[in-house]
Amino acid sequence: MTHPVVLTLNAGSSSLKFGLYAIDGAPVEMAMGLIEAIGRQPRLKAEFGGAAPAVTRDLAAAEAADHASALDTALGLLRAQFPQAQATAVGHRVVHGGPGFDAPVVVDDAVMAELKRLSPFAPLHQPHNIAGIEAAQAAFPDALQVACFDTAFHRRHPKVNDVFALPREYYDKGVRRYGFHGLSYDYISGELGRIAPLLHDGRVIVAHLGNGASMCALQNGRSIASTMGFTALDGLPMGTRTGQIDPGVIFYLVQQEGLSIDEVRQLFYTKSGLLGLSGLSNDMRTLEAAGTQEANEAIDYFVFRIRRELGGLAAALGGLDALVFCGGIGENSRLIRERVCEGMGWLGIELDRGRNTENATVISTDLSRARILVIPTNEELVIARAAKGFLDAAV
Ligand code: ADP
Repeated sequence: MTHPVVLTLNAGSSSLKFGLYAIDGAPVEMAMGLIEAIGRQPRLKAEFGGAAPAVTRDLAAAEAADHASALDTALGLLRAQFPQAQATAVGHRVVHGGPGFDAPVVVDDAVMAELKRLSPFAPLHQPHNIAGIEAAQAAFPDALQVACFDTAFHRRHPKVNDVFALPREYYDKGVRRYGFHGLSYDYISGELGRIAPLLHDGRVIVAHLGNGASMCALQNGRSIASTMGFTALDGLPMGTRTGQIDPGVIFYLVQQEGLSIDEVRQLFYTKSGLLGLSGLSNDMRTLEAAGTQEANEAIDYFVFRIRRELGGLAAALGGLDALVFCGGIGENSRLIRERVCEGMGWLGIELDRGRNTENATVISTDLSRARILVIPTNEELVIARAAKGFLDAAV
């Protein structure tokens, strides 16, 4: 007997995150895993809920030489654990949906061609997402392949937040402010609707603070502004990315320092942010523990930019009813949450230190005009729900 399931895939540049969901009713996670350092010295981590002990092991190079072989390895593991499971749909995280995709979509030949056409918008990510879809098509020729976009949630934001002040022809060519982390914001918006419907309908700022970091202003649960722009490089400083930077710096680096455009790209994406400023690490835990001047300055800059964006997004919303923290740092770092909220009484935010230390869901004081919440995000579940939605519609 077979048991229909949804598989979710999130293919990064050298990683593959995979999830397996039971879909008898609303999707329920059965397994979640990650293969890192694909093509180098791959490692595997996987959890199976209560069904079996977690697995962590180094892989042989051939077990994850590329995304296709990494998927084979992941599937081998899942099949051994859940022999009856049969993937009837595979949901994919796709970084860029361009101006056109404002919702998940079933991948057919035309969609695939469009995803490839959009690759230049996200050259470091989109090709890996496409490789993931192709590998899944080969492994599950009869399953629905569903693409879920990081940009889609923002596509209906107001035009004023969609444009750059460039000649109009570039807007028409797709040079727009897209915004990313949309699957995370979609999840948080849904959770707010479930646990605090009044807040959901109000003015909310979500700070997704992980290795990648951005913030989004939600009104009635919809994105009206966010900190990321044309690429996932803009806005807040991140683990290794610059965040907002004067584009004049690029001209200077190329013309005066002799860097090639590829070198500037490498610098901005992989050597900057917390890593660049601290000279130590992209990992917030390491920086919090380090206590060196450089590490502290990196934290100071991270916090400063979050607070600036908080003010800016609150202005875009015309006030603030709730601030939500999520992502690895937002969900776990008491220090960053405390420092972001410090002295923000003018915005109606008052942190309860005790609740913050306990990592409670609501960490504002009872008198705080705006609520402060910590909500663990779940991008994979958003993908699984979308895939299940298409399966239900096909019945
Ligand atoms: P990604 O964007 O890659 O999904 P995550 O959302 O997993 O990243 O976030 C990773 C970040 O979260 C790292 O900087 C890590 O140090 C930070 N983090 C995780 N746990 C803690 C903690 N207890 N205290 C501070 N930072 C933490």
